[in-house]
Amino acid sequence: MKKSIIIILFIVSSLFSSQIKDYQVVSGSFFYQNSYYSFLRSFYHDKKKYFLVVDENSLKTKLFKLSDLKAIILLNNKKTRYKKLLKKYSMASSKLQNFGITSLHTKDVYLTADLCPSSKKGYEDRFIKYFIKRYYKNKPLKITFFVSGRWIQKHKKEFYELISFQKSKKLDITWGNHTFTHYYNPHLRFDKNFILKKGTNLKKEILKVEKILLENDVLPSILFRFPGLVSDKKSEKFINTLGLLPVGTNAWLAKNQNIHDGSVILIHGNKNEPLGIKKAIKIFKENDYDFGSILEDLKL
Ligand SMILES: [Zn+2]
Repeated sequence: MKKSIIIILFIVSSLFSSQIKDYQVVSGSFFYQNSYYSFLRSFYHDKKKYFLVVDENSLKTKLFKLSDLKAIILLNNKKTRYKKLLKKYSMASSKLQNFGITSLHTKDVYLTADLCPSSKKGYEDRFIKYFIKRYYKNKPLKITFFVSGRWIQKHKKEFYELISFQKSKKLDITWGNHTFTHYYNPHLRFDKNFILKKGTNLKKEILKVEKILLENDVLPSILFRFPGLVSDKKSEKFINTLGLLPVGTNAWLAKNQNIHDGSVILIHGNKNEPLGIKKAIKIFKENDYDFGSILEDLKL
């Protein structure tokens, strides 16, 4: 009897230990061990305080424990790669769709797959396995997933499978944010739809996804994709204050857009857009591509 109580207590406490508390947006920049960083968020985990930060040169995110940051120098260097890019994308656009990074000045291509909420069971695992079989050459294949919180909630097994591809070094995944709810009503105009729906709390929508990722030991990146690629000036400025970079596309395969050098390719990994997957398989069969990482190759 006693033993089972101890086991139950252990299970309950290990569940709670994965929870993140007091998740906050923080700002400020610092210099630490030869690198410039910007603070993005702070939170508590197991009663210890952590910071999610971005390396201003590599654009990669990282976690620091408060106790690790003993010898930091608070310093705001406006000339780092991150600061310059953040400034570039602080200039809001007057377009309603496709704000942000749509292609890069390289010969590589950049595969991005959206995981918007879906009532469909499973995900495009056959495509992912095909992608690995077709292009894997002893080096993890670069891909960005823009994930919504609702998709993770309903597709835990699928989410863990993607993480397992990352752990086994088949995929090098950049985890981008696609908001928690990803509201969509096919009967509404774009300027009242997606995150432009009245009453949307964009901050909550974004932070909730980051928290879920961190609670699953996944590092959220600084990349963000607006649901439906729809945004307005206010939301564009807002994600900039959260330290995020917006990613659009110039090769939405289901919309018959072709892949060029440097293209940010858009497909859906949630089974909601089989046409894009069909086209991707056909194009990938016929072409050799080098898949790059947006964060590694992005220039001003
Ligand atoms: Zn979406």
